[in-house]
Amino acid sequence: MTDTAAIRYLFPPAPPVAIPVDGDGRLLPVGRIFCVGRNYADHAREMGVEVDREAPFYFTKPADAIVRSEAAIPYPPGTADYHYEMEFVVAIGTPVHAVPPTRALDAVFGYATGLDMTRRDLQLEARAKGRPWDLGKAFEQSAVIGPVTRREAFGAIGGQTIRLTVNGAVRQEARLSDLVWSVPELVSHLSRFYHLAPGDLIYTGTPAGVGAVAAGDRLDGTIDGLAPVRLTITP
Ligand code: MN
Repeated sequence: MTDTAAIRYLFPPAPPVAIPVDGDGRLLPVGRIFCVGRNYADHAREMGVEVDREAPFYFTKPADAIVRSEAAIPYPPGTADYHYEMEFVVAIGTPVHAVPPTRALDAVFGYATGLDMTRRDLQLEARAKGRPWDLGKAFEQSAVIGPVTRREAFGAIGGQTIRLTVNGAVRQEARLSDLVWSVPELVSHLSRFYHLAPGDLIYTGTPAGVGAVAAGDRLDGTIDGLAPVRLTITP
């Protein structure tokens, strides 16, 4: 008798979203993507707002917004102000809920370089009207990421430089120690609201210097100790 319980789909399901791990042939399957807003004081200032010292805040992107480093992606629809945001990305490795900051790093698998690509005009319009940021943030190919480096190999988060160049010119440069909410604080705080799971990613916010890109631009983002994230914008 044949297997009558075999699952059949109306149309082919999307392949799992997964990203490379440095020095490991296996891929890391991506779960949810959380992004932190205003986590460098200089960037909050350039956006005309102040960092909220009471608690961090978040927006999300769908997992299928992931784009691997070295890709060439088209200028997205619906915007005339497409921006880069260079970010330090945390990959969760073990399930964790309501963890104190002192034990939060135990749940971290590793780190990566990332770009939170943003339709700034749509984000700011939504912000002004008190609407959700989805159109500005959670769109196709908006979460670019480099290979993940294991936490043990990266070591302690501290004075590492985070830098983005566009066509060779430095546009963003800061230190990871400039993060307003540290990685243990972010993991701890998020874990009070979600049951964080292996494969969840946290984009930890961008330093000052965000700006627009155009077709033909080449973005090169680096963080000491991590593989770079590179992106080309096509028409
Ligand atoms: Mn961001």
